[in-house]
Amino acid sequence: MKRLIFLGAPGAGKGTQATVVAQDRQIAHISTGDILRAAVAAKTELGQQADTYMSRGDLVPDELVLGLVKQRLQEADAQAGWILDGFPRNAAQAEALDSLLADIGQSPDHAINLDVPDEILVARLLDRGQAQGRKDDTEEVIRHRLRVYREQTAPLIDFYELVGKLVSVNGDAPVEAVTHHLISLIS
Ligand code: AMP
Repeated sequence: MKRLIFLGAPGAGKGTQATVVAQDRQIAHISTGDILRAAVAAKTELGQQADTYMSRGDLVPDELVLGLVKQRLQEADAQAGWILDGFPRNAAQAEALDSLLADIGQSPDHAINLDVPDEILVARLLDRGQAQGRKDDTEEVIRHRLRVYREQTAPLIDFYELVGKLVSVNGDAPVEAVTHHLISLIS
């Protein structure tokens, strides 16, 4: 299996796990959050537009994100496979992804939901905010991001369940245990 979507709330461990799993499987790790943060840091036009939304904890408009993903999927390393981390984030993005992939003759093998209880998410994000200085990891913005997740992103769990692609994994376990579980599922 080489084309995977990582679902899960902010703080569920998508980025950590996607980094290790992508390395292990020799496939591309595509994190829209990382790409957007790099654009903000580089003060590109896109970065400047995205910054306002990101610092509030809102989703960046779909049209900004879709272009990035489309471009990234065409790069050489993504031909071996990919993990999408943090995309799609709402129903419109999931539909756009389907048609984008259909255009290049691909489809996701699985959508993997990393399941973690809410109170653990908040604690993890607060820790990360202190460790990494991410400005969207303050308590108020964290609570907003979790709300946005519940309202806009969590419905994708049902979407991928309906098309028979959903796999749920307990993300409330030691990092190495979750990695092991994921790699054994995918291999
Ligand atoms: P993440 O690192 O995935 O938690 O993303 C951090 C922030 O980047 C989010 O709170 C959004 O503001 C923005 N972002 C990342 N991915 C997307 C996406 N697929 N659609 C819209 N906004 C996104």
